[in-house]
Amino acid sequence: MKNIVVQKFGGTSVRNLECMRQVLNNVRRPLANGDKVIVVLSAMAGETNRLIALARQWSDHPDPAEMDSLVSTGEQISVALFSMMAKDEGIKCRSVLGFQIPIETDNSYGKARIEDIDSEKLLKMLEIDDVLVVAGFQGVDAIGRITTLGRGGSDTSAVAVAAALKAEMCEIYTDVPGVFTTDPNICAEARKIDRISYDEMLEMASMGAKVLQIRSVEFAKKYNVAVHVRSTFSDEPGTMVTQEDTVMEAVQVSGVAYDKDQAQVTLVGVIDEPGVCASIFTPIAENKILVDMIVQNPSKDGRTDITFTVTRADLDATLKLIEGLKGEIGYQALLSDKNVSKVSVIGVGMRNHSGVAAKAFRAMRDENINILMISTSEIKLSCLIEDKYTELAVRTLHQTFVG
Ligand code: ADP
Ligand code: ASP
Ligand code: MG
Repeated sequence: MKNIVVQKFGGTSVRNLECMRQVLNNVRRPLANGDKVIVVLSAMAGETNRLIALARQWSDHPDPAEMDSLVSTGEQISVALFSMMAKDEGIKCRSVLGFQIPIETDNSYGKARIEDIDSEKLLKMLEIDDVLVVAGFQGVDAIGRITTLGRGGSDTSAVAVAAALKAEMCEIYTDVPGVFTTDPNICAEARKIDRISYDEMLEMASMGAKVLQIRSVEFAKKYNVAVHVRSTFSDEPGTMVTQEDTVMEAVQVSGVAYDKDQAQVTLVGVIDEPGVCASIFTPIAENKILVDMIVQNPSKDGRTDITFTVTRADLDATLKLIEGLKGEIGYQALLSDKNVSKVSVIGVGMRNHSGVAAKAFRAMRDENINILMISTSEIKLSCLIEDKYTELAVRTLHQTFVG
């Protein structure tokens, strides 16, 4: 079998016919080398949002399985249109939907996890065609229902396909020329990073840098697939996401990320006794709600305040669960705030440098930005702040650490 190249193109890369022609130019390169190509496509820019809005016209809480059936159609449109065009250009290709491979997932509609990909089937299809145009974002569960992999999930489809085929590399084509030190669309000083470790990229993605979906980086790390993030619209090399190497160690902070999809919940005056946290967070976890930061204040007169964050979409469900626990945990008030966001500095070099936190706090103080919550890991520091200061905080932290 010839070499197989996996390329993924995001929504802006397939937003119209002209952009699709650029995609085709990128596909022609490995074809000219005699390679076979798997092209994973996202929905055309704006299409997934349009479909979500359409469902919301019917219901605030649409049936999750039907929702996946609906939103997955965006990718079906792109792969069919692109394949028509490529065939007219003389390329032997076909479109393939997630369930046709199949890309098997669990049944967590809206955020399904890939469990298995039939690589044999893909290889068989590649014996017939030179290019397979695979719909990103989609999977199918054990009972044959369509699932989707969460926003930005086409990245994960592509890396998972590359891993299943034991490809050494997966190319992720997007609207920026690589992974930058921070979002180049909000900070003009952002610089392209040539190489970044899986762990740093994982932190960047987890902290909100949506250039790669978190799970795609987890897959890449687990199966040791190098990911090349680059622009659809230029030939310049982008960013290699790979295993950590010695050159990377030298940098203290490699990036700044932000996440506006944050909401804060505070339980005021919770009775401070063993098991209270377990009573609060167990039902939340059972409802598959991800809690990010958690802070518990020291106890005063046998009572304490507990504050934590969830995504904005999960706020209403979280509040409902906690209201249901009032009898059991006896808090005095329940507060929440959707106008918060999280800014983070990330770098493997932080392991060996002290003073990163103090420097970040001084930078925020100089801009008069109040810090609501703080969390740290070995290679990351995050601050929750008022939403309206997000861009300012990102620029300030970038200026302080990256220059
Ligand atoms: P696609 O549709 O190609 O998947 P996305 O919109 O999902 O593209 O991701 C690319 C976007 O990610 C960029 O346009 C940029 O605004 C944003 N982004 C956020 N943080 C970063 C970063 N550190 N480096 C590059 N892009 C970033
Ligand atoms: N179309 C999906 C989304 O908008 C998946 C993707 O673009 O990766 O989230
Ligand atoms: Mg994306």
